[in-house]
Amino acid sequence: MNMDTKILTVNTDNIDEEKLKEASSYIKNGDLVVFPTETVYGLGADGLNGKACEKIFKAKNRPIDNPLILHISQINQLDRLVSEIPEEAKLLAKNLWPGPLTMIFKKSKLIPDVVTATGDTVAIRMPKDPIARRFIDFCDTPIAAPSANISGRPSPTNASDVYFDMKGRVSVIIDGGNSQIGIESTVLDLTEDKPMILRPGFYTYEYIKGFLPNLVLDDSLVDDKVIPKSPGQKYKHYAPKAAMKIYVGEESAIRIYDEAREAKKSGKKVGILAFEQDISKFYDFDFVSLGDKNNLLEMSHVLFSALRILDKKGVDLILAQGVEDKDLGKSIMNRMKKSAAGNVIYL
Ligand code: AMP
Ligand code: MG
Repeated sequence: MNMDTKILTVNTDNIDEEKLKEASSYIKNGDLVVFPTETVYGLGADGLNGKACEKIFKAKNRPIDNPLILHISQINQLDRLVSEIPEEAKLLAKNLWPGPLTMIFKKSKLIPDVVTATGDTVAIRMPKDPIARRFIDFCDTPIAAPSANISGRPSPTNASDVYFDMKGRVSVIIDGGNSQIGIESTVLDLTEDKPMILRPGFYTYEYIKGFLPNLVLDDSLVDDKVIPKSPGQKYKHYAPKAAMKIYVGEESAIRIYDEAREAKKSGKKVGILAFEQDISKFYDFDFVSLGDKNNLLEMSHVLFSALRILDKKGVDLILAQGVEDKDLGKSIMNRMKKSAAGNVIYL
């Protein structure tokens, strides 16, 4: 793949609709357009055009059995995409859409097989980002969009990280600045007896349970050894090029410092991901701050770009401080553990 990739810069506070119309013409033509959302950047195609959606899988080397999320901009677009809308979905759509929540429904006949990986359910989200919503309006079709990274790599949260992975593979990248949230949507299955979180995200289990008291978590989110129900969750994911190890607990900075010093002595280039409170211990290494250790919002915002910064520095080993596995920390640790292939030490 080596096509021209056009960058269209759009300012969230003063949206140039002509540029979004131009980008939408590529979608109508069956081509790929990367667009910003509040979670991460999405690699979009016309979600009702099977051939266009096949291009997504090629562009990012995505396994064909991993289904895509359809993005809509108005609630009335939902009706023709699904065969039924459970009451729980109506309640959540009213309260949490537009926003970082993906809901799984029984699909309608309109949805191409490639979108659902031939399954009978379809994932749908209404993003909040104003550029994303306006862009989808102009496309006048649901937009199938996974994260705009090569499969297995950290999701991109700014246009330059998108460009690094997707240059020559997509027709257009809409540059809308940094993603506001920085980790992906919460994926919630509403097609079984009880509503179930398949992927933790910005909306936490605790928060959604406030709307749906019978909410459960997929077993894999409670026990690391269980295989996840959602196809995308079982793959290697969010992985930097370097090997990575996470320490969680009071002594984490000291342990990381000792290990980093040893690794450096043995000739390794070491990268550190540490909290703002501890970062000054690591000035002898390549380091990126995860922000204040009590500010999980900031941490989710910087995590993926931090992994990519360390990748660019060419480190061999990343040592990272992790957080407690609850609230938004559960979503952050879900991403971090995958980045580190499960290599976590609780002190
Ligand atoms: P991404 O690839 O970053 O867009 O993430 C999409 C996530 O939603 C992946 O983990 C997919 O496996 C999951 N997903 C999409 N459609 C479905 C579906 N119909 N059932 C279960 N999980 C889904
Ligand atoms: Mg992804």
